Amino acid sequence: MDQQQFDSELQTYFLHIKHEIKQEHIEYLKKHPELNQILNDFTSQIILEKPDNVYQYAKEYFSFFNQEKDLKTCKPLVISGASGVGKGTLLQMLFKQYPQQFVFSVSYTTRAPRPGEVHGQHYYFVSKEEFQKEIEKKAFLEYSEVHGNYYGTHLAQVQKVMKQGQVCVIEIDVQGAEKISKSMPNQCNYIFINAPSVEELRKRLTGRGTETEEVIEKRMKNAQKEIEKAHQLGFYNELLNDDLQKTFKKLIDLLKTFYVDLKL
Ligand code: 5GP
Repeated sequence: MDQQQFDSELQTYFLHIKHEIKQEHIEYLKKHPELNQILNDFTSQIILEKPDNVYQYAKEYFSFFNQEKDLKTCKPLVISGASGVGKGTLLQMLFKQYPQQFVFSVSYTTRAPRPGEVHGQHYYFVSKEEFQKEIEKKAFLEYSEVHGNYYGTHLAQVQKVMKQGQVCVIEIDVQGAEKISKSMPNQCNYIFINAPSVEELRKRLTGRGTETEEVIEKRMKNAQKEIEKAHQLGFYNELLNDDLQKTFKKLIDLLKTFYVDLKL
């Protein structure tokens, strides 16, 4: 075999090997779609937090995997629904049944506490000035003005719960959920609790006796807008709360599909 022939055969051989390796890579990627998910989640998170030291950030981010927890296990759970729809009661039942798995994200708000509400447990009740300071510190994952008051989700709280391998439950309005869905794409699960009818919602709000007629009217108008918007957004899983016990069961069934590893 002369030199030219040898070079040509070698060339063919390398091309063959290259093709085989490429095929192997493609096969591997097809078998592991989670790789794309992990890289997308990482990129979204890094864009959200903009760390100065990217290497250090990556080291901490991927240390999640050392805890042998799938990232999907701790995707935050975003829950929305009009005032009076029963979200609060359903969540209380959830935390009672699964105190280790789900942790409530305590929002900041500028509204006044209702009777029985505790600072640091239901909300952090702060002044407009204090809320503004947190905005300037870029401490919020999202914040919105709801019914004339400010409400915000604290980013550090959500991250802490995720790092602990627990599900952070973020109870927020629809506009807040939309903001989260943009800043953390594909990184949360979304549930919208709906009432059987608008009349039923008014009855429940009036029955609560904690709000004035004017506030109830404001909340009713807001409720209709929220329901329409939630449908438009399309990322919510909707639950109709017509019967508390049955709805709670449906909620748990849905959560079982979201958080398979939690073994609920
Ligand atoms: P309420 O005053 O009845 O406690 O809450 C009024 C609305 O504000 C509810 O729809 C509730 O889900 C929403 N909300 C509570 N916390 C937050 C938050 O941190 N961010 C946003 N965007 N909405 C919130």
